[in-house]
Amino acid sequence: MRGNRRRDTAPELALRSAVHGLGLRYLVASRPSGAERTADLVFPRAKVAVFMDGCYWHGCPEHFIPPRTNPDYWREKIERNSLRDRDTDAQLEQRGWKVLRVWEHEAALDAAGRVAAAVRSARR
Ligand SMILES: [Zn+2]
Repeated sequence: MRGNRRRDTAPELALRSAVHGLGLRYLVASRPSGAERTADLVFPRAKVAVFMDGCYWHGCPEHFIPPRTNPDYWREKIERNSLRDRDTDAQLEQRGWKVLRVWEHEAALDAAGRVAAAVRSARR
C-alpha cells in the first residue's frame, strides 16, 4: 500500500517531536530487522517499532466511513490492509520486537507517553 502512504504528515511530525521531547532517540521511517514494512519510529536497541496508522487506510473504528460509491469494495480493501497490519505485527513479534500502533487521530503527547513507556520497559 506504499502508494497510499504519505510521509511526514502533520500527525507523524507531531508524534516524532513529542517523543523527541521526552528524551528518546529513534530512527525514522526505517525497517525493523527483517520487516517488509517501514515503521515510522524504530528503537533498534529496545526493539520497539512504532507505526502510525492513518484513520482512513487502516480503518480506524472512530473515523473510517466507507465512501458511498462501492462501499463493499472499500470495506474489503480496508479489511485487507488491516489483516496485513496484523501480519506485520505478528512477524515482528516473532522476532522479538514490540509493536506499537498509534492512530493518527491520537493526541501526540498521549501517544508519545505510550511509546516512551514501551521503550523504557523494553530496556529494563
Ligand atoms: Zn481515527
